[in-house]
Amino acid sequence: MKRKTKMVHGGITGDKVTGAVSVPIYQVSTYKQEAAGKHSGYEYSRTGNPTRYALETVIADLENGTAGFAFGSGMSAISAVMMLLNAGDHIIMTDDVYGGTYRLMTKVLNRYNIEHTFVDTSNPDKVKEAIQPNTKALYIETPTNPLLKITDIQAMSNIAKENNLLLIVDNTFATPYWQQPLDLGADIIVHSATKYIGGHSDVVAGLVVVKTESLAEDLHFVQNSVGGVLGPQDSWLLMRGIKTLALRMEAIEKNTHDIVQFLKEHPKVGTIYYPGLPNHKGHHIAKQQASGFGGMISFDVGSAAAADKVLEGTSFFTLAESLGAVESLISVPAKMTHASIPKERRNELGIVDGLIRVSVGIEDSEDLIEDLKQALNKI
Ligand SMILES: *Cc1c(COP(=O)(O)O)cnc(C)c1O
Repeated sequence: MKRKTKMVHGGITGDKVTGAVSVPIYQVSTYKQEAAGKHSGYEYSRTGNPTRYALETVIADLENGTAGFAFGSGMSAISAVMMLLNAGDHIIMTDDVYGGTYRLMTKVLNRYNIEHTFVDTSNPDKVKEAIQPNTKALYIETPTNPLLKITDIQAMSNIAKENNLLLIVDNTFATPYWQQPLDLGADIIVHSATKYIGGHSDVVAGLVVVKTESLAEDLHFVQNSVGGVLGPQDSWLLMRGIKTLALRMEAIEKNTHDIVQFLKEHPKVGTIYYPGLPNHKGHHIAKQQASGFGGMISFDVGSAAAADKVLEGTSFFTLAESLGAVESLISVPAKMTHASIPKERRNELGIVDGLIRVSVGIEDSEDLIEDLKQALNKI
């Protein structure tokens, strides 16, 4: 099955009993047993729920993994994966990981003696240098937020295999439509399904996909032990989102390309960060390992005041955090998602005060460009 077909026919579809073409929402916590311990595969909905299971099978299919797991948020999914580690273990991570992941490592898991080193994973030598005797995992995000830095998944997989590390990839930005890290040697995929997979700014959810049966067993044990599972209604909404993921990603890709062409010519726009641009540092790797460049663009308009003008001036780009929805969103990372990072560090990273991040939606690109044009002209 090709990817587009998998999104509609993958995993478990419909209902055998009634013929319903949509998986029913099994709004249930417990299941009748024929005799003590004799049941039809479900006993309690934290352990397993048919609607959640249908979602878990389709995401496993899309990522070419052996099993999927659905959680109440992306952070809950990432936390569950971290629970595979033990006290005293060390993990190497992309230095500009999602802020919530950074907080989890530095403010929560540090209390359980799970050690971390943040490195620029776009440079494989830096990753090799950071390996310690107790290093157990390598965690990468590619592309990253908001500068869309690219890490070579295959190169990370080679390092992970040589050193017996688990390779974990946050695939939120690329989605399984554009990028399948398990095929490039990763062991575990995590998603904030709140973003492109849900796609409509109406669900908070997280997904995990693992490569091997043994990881599947371990992760199911954690999921059942720690809880944090996704409810049946939200599981159903994600399955509905997945059915149009291919169409949305194609539309977003085209719009993003058009907007980047417009931004390139605009005199008020400085550096543009978009992996589809040939002068982007990770362009050739992005082109190799993914079949699309995604819908995120960051660009510098020179100052906080100029950025404010653009934000106030747009009407089709909603000023909001988050990303990956049908509606276009706009934000200023320095004041919003990355405000907790000290200004000096932000400037070192390139997250300057005038940097604007947009998450491109599925509107008509002519309207989006017209909207940006009149807002940029107010600078
Ligand atoms: C949003 C996000 C998360 C966290 O997901 P939630 O659903 O908000 O808990 C993790 N990683 C990335 C890349 C994200 O964008």
